[in-house]
Amino acid sequence: MKNNALTIVESKTKQPKPNTDQIPFGRTFTDHMFVMDYHEDRGWYEPRIVPYEPLTLDPAAMIFHYGQTVFEGLKAYRSGDRVLLFRPEKNLERLNRSSDRLSIPPIDEEEVMGYLEELISLEKDWVPDTPGTSLYIRPFIIGTEPNLSVAPSKTYKLMIILSPVGSYFSGGLTPVKIRVEDKFTRAVKGGTGMAKTAGNYSAAYQAQKQAYQEGKADVLWLDGVEKRYIEEVGSMNIFFKINGEVVTPALSGSILQGITRMSVIELLEKWEIPVTERRISIEELYQYYEEGVLEEAFGTGTAAVISPVGELNWLGKEMVINNHEIGELSQKLYDTITGIQTGKLEDTPGWTVEVK
Ligand SMILES: *Cc1c(COP(=O)(O)O)cnc(C)c1O
Repeated sequence: MKNNALTIVESKTKQPKPNTDQIPFGRTFTDHMFVMDYHEDRGWYEPRIVPYEPLTLDPAAMIFHYGQTVFEGLKAYRSGDRVLLFRPEKNLERLNRSSDRLSIPPIDEEEVMGYLEELISLEKDWVPDTPGTSLYIRPFIIGTEPNLSVAPSKTYKLMIILSPVGSYFSGGLTPVKIRVEDKFTRAVKGGTGMAKTAGNYSAAYQAQKQAYQEGKADVLWLDGVEKRYIEEVGSMNIFFKINGEVVTPALSGSILQGITRMSVIELLEKWEIPVTERRISIEELYQYYEEGVLEEAFGTGTAAVISPVGELNWLGKEMVINNHEIGELSQKLYDTITGIQTGKLEDTPGWTVEVK
């Protein structure tokens, strides 16, 4: 893994930068990308930054058949002339945990962090500066061996692509309506729920479609065995404020370990607001709702940071939370985390990394 010298091939043409406020998520990419290959006899080799371009892969490449792939998602934020990353080492740690689950060989986290910073540094002008905007970073690994046998690939590609993204909430934080899924399952203990891997997401589209048809923004997943215990929302972890205490489902093996989730828990502990990670069933939540002690609900994830939940719908039963308004704690968490991410607040926890 050592002595991997990074090569940089600069793009001859530079695309005009889009107006980030008006672009849809994830369809515009920067001029360059990072690529590194793996072979079981060589380890990871030939790290390179090259012009963004399509890949050529054998149709028998294992990624197409058995879905051996993992990904990450993080953002670079502009803070005046500086560019900041938010806890990026946690993303690379999680990439290795996901890879382990999918039998993909690990990367050297420190080495790849260096390449990631080089790539962002080269594409610095792509980090937008309008409030709420950022440069989304998508590292991913695919199995590339042309072989139809059902076994781990002997070769892989690690790539990092970058996409400027607009503000998630254009008119301030808006509480969303969520459908509690009663039929489909996202993940079970022992499955791949804790890994950021492709199949978890495509298997959720049917439930997502049902939610959209009912005018809801997303799906809240229950555990796959008893269909009782709350797990997480589409690509967000979930928190509830009940009678002054904050509760979030414990990491059971089927829930993605969000970095925003971790940061929220750490902030709440610092603020001395009681926070517990435990099993919580949907019936229990309804009971609190009926008692009038369910004060706030919010999702957490890199995309929206904090996404207040204004309404939950389970088997036709409606739960309106905080009168469809953003709660005080949700707002405070949002302001604090985005403040640190964009350098507007002092980074006392030491979460940001400046790209040189
Ligand atoms: C990425 C993701 C999250 C949020 O993780 P962050 O690190 O906070 O962005 C939550 N749930 C799922 C299923 C995810 O894919």
